[in-house]
Amino acid sequence: YSGKKTMTTVSESMMNLKVGDYQSLPVVVSENMTVYDAIVQLFLEDVGTLFVVDDHSFLQGVLSRKDLLRTSIGSQELTKIPVHIIMSRMPNIVYCKKSDSLIGAAKKLIERQVDSLPVVNETENGLEIVGRLTKTNVTKAFISLAETHDL
Ligand code: ADP
Repeated sequence: YSGKKTMTTVSESMMNLKVGDYQSLPVVVSENMTVYDAIVQLFLEDVGTLFVVDDHSFLQGVLSRKDLLRTSIGSQELTKIPVHIIMSRMPNIVYCKKSDSLIGAAKKLIERQVDSLPVVNETENGLEIVGRLTKTNVTKAFISLAETHDL
């Protein structure tokens, strides 16, 4: 540790990391999209998780790779099943806000054993999706912390 940032300890920097500084863009689909189209979207957008919204763009659910795989190995018709049938849904969705500490969000990822959290704005009528926080984002923050402190 070179002492370039002598006023800030590693633990202080760590506690100051915010979700909003490390989040990625969310990839959102309609609850009426078919499972087939959602799989196509997953590949096109190169993400592991899709967030599902209603007609008002409020968060209703989450679709993971395994949710889509599970449905695909069943003999069902993927072009006919809407994603709201197979998604994980509110109120069981774990989410975070931009202003939350990254540590708190990382704990949610581990405790709930999920790969990503929607980053939301809480409104009177529902949750507006403003970002996506993944394990990759947390890993990047971990590296930037090391770089900041010349570790
Ligand atoms: P995978 O299923 O591809 O391993 P995850 O570990 O993220 O991906 O998802 C595990 C299960 O948890 C899936 O059924 C998924 O719908 C659900 N899930 C994923 N993210 C969340 C979340 N933020 N809140 C609630 N459930 C979630």
